[in-house]
Amino acid sequence: MSENDAKARPSPDLQAALAAFREAVGEAHVNVDPDALEAAQTATFATTQRVPAIVRPADTAQVQACLRIAAAHRVPVYPVSAGRNWGYGSRVPPGDGSVLLDLGRMNRILAHDEQLAYLTVEPGVTFRQAHAWLRERGSTTFITTIGGSPDASMVGNALERGDGRGPHADIFQHVCALEAVLPTGERVETGHARFPESRAAPVFRWGLGPVLDGLFSQSSLGVVTRMTFWLSRKQPWLREFFCAVNDDAQLWDMVDRLQALALDGTLRGSFFFWNDIKAFSVTQQFPYASVGRTPLPDWARDKFREGFGRWAISGALSAPDAEMGALLEKRLARAVEGAFRPLSFGPVAPDGESPFQGVPTEANLAMTYWRKRTPRPEDPDPDRDRCGFIWCSVAVPFTGQEAKRAVEIADRVPRLFGFEPNLALLAHSPRCLYLVAALAYDRDARGEDARAQACYRALSRELADAGYHLTRAGLQAQEAAPPVRDDSPEVGRRLKAALDPEGILAPGRSEP
Ligand SMILES: Cc1cc2nc3c(=O)[nH]c(=O)nc-3n(C[C@H](O)[C@H](O)[C@H](O)COP(=O)(O)OP(=O)(O)OC[C@H]3O[C@@H](n4cnc5c(N)ncnc54)[C@H](O)[C@@H]3O)c2cc1C
Repeated sequence: MSENDAKARPSPDLQAALAAFREAVGEAHVNVDPDALEAAQTATFATTQRVPAIVRPADTAQVQACLRIAAAHRVPVYPVSAGRNWGYGSRVPPGDGSVLLDLGRMNRILAHDEQLAYLTVEPGVTFRQAHAWLRERGSTTFITTIGGSPDASMVGNALERGDGRGPHADIFQHVCALEAVLPTGERVETGHARFPESRAAPVFRWGLGPVLDGLFSQSSLGVVTRMTFWLSRKQPWLREFFCAVNDDAQLWDMVDRLQALALDGTLRGSFFFWNDIKAFSVTQQFPYASVGRTPLPDWARDKFREGFGRWAISGALSAPDAEMGALLEKRLARAVEGAFRPLSFGPVAPDGESPFQGVPTEANLAMTYWRKRTPRPEDPDPDRDRCGFIWCSVAVPFTGQEAKRAVEIADRVPRLFGFEPNLALLAHSPRCLYLVAALAYDRDARGEDARAQACYRALSRELADAGYHLTRAGLQAQEAAPPVRDDSPEVGRRLKAALDPEGILAPGRSEP
């Protein structure tokens, strides 16, 4: 859209749009309560965007109606499925004045096949809900979960190309048959789902012709109203493992050794290398009583390391039976020989119940309260409790050498800004690691919101300069896009103009 086009357009008519939304979804599902709007405008870092209303459609037809209304009245809308995008902007839209299109009412599980191991869901279905649903039915399958909130949306997470804990670490790699509503109100289905009576739609990703699925992930080109997830079969033998190293040189060596085990299939799915600060912040809050002020002094970090080590390595081995499991144990034990904390295994999980086999847990959310002076609550909600929390996640080739280069930056930059380097390397595939850095702070501490943003910008820039680019860009990344060397920005603008001629869907979110 050119500047002239924008000027020639009439301005948005919010009141007319609200009246039409009420007509489309019912009075009770258009919320303009100031407290609700205030909550929707709050993230785990500073934001300025205002949300004038929250609209909650019940089905695809209502989503189509809402987008047609938004286009007719030129009112921007921003879709969220569960809105737990903590560390990336929560529910806050990228553009000011966007109506929140909250898809939480669309929470039906539409199809399940035990033999072919898939589950088709609407966007409001959460990890907790899917897990309970499968368990109630005595299913032998499970959905890969995340380290974030159990109440996050499976669809919202997959669209962000989230990282899972379990065999399908790359979640978007294991979905198909999307239904999406374009900003014009048109409806498209991907793969074979668009053919009437297609038998293979939920089991065949590609379909015929160009693959459209990717258009709707990390994008502002459509609202996804249905998605099929591939499930995994529970393995009867599953043991979580843990060991730790105490010096960085040993870590790089372990990265290479475990990459080899990932490539040969001994380690299937995700496993993690996580540093002492991450461990500290999951198990306890900042020790103000003994340390006084932030940031954590080296002596306190060293003390924690004495018992824990510098980097932990954890994951799970799984097998169809104990005999094969014992072989895997042996291979892993050989690879991590000489670790500072020797390899240990948890008990064989009864019924295979483990976060690595679909059981969602809130344990990791404790991290967001690291620097709070108030105790962690029973029901964590980092937006509500003014926890400062920003993720910076970049892709790194899975070698010790590359991990060393990237970690050197991510360990150094946060400290320059007075934050502890909270780091993890996640095995995303046998070829790629995600280096995930968390900036955890207290939004009630003066100046920390601004300092954390500055730190994020410096960190993401330095990582990009070294060749390590973001896997996922939240609101915090809006002003920090690195330069590109091709024509993708212009192509992205043309795509956006073609699919969203009124520019009403998530304006401000970058394409591609
Ligand atoms: C301590 C902690 C640990 C975490 N661990 C993980 C982890 O292990 N893995 C991980 O991936 N994330 C993790 N997260 C980040 C985040 O919480 C999750 O990614 C979460 O799944 C995102 O929230 P949601 O699923 O509710 O999606 P939403 O907030 O609903 O949406 C996320 C984004 O997708 C877009 N979107 C949502 N629904 C639609 C739709 N139907 N159509 C079009 N666009 C849509 C939204 O506009 C938004 O930009 C963690 C966060 C914290 C604080």
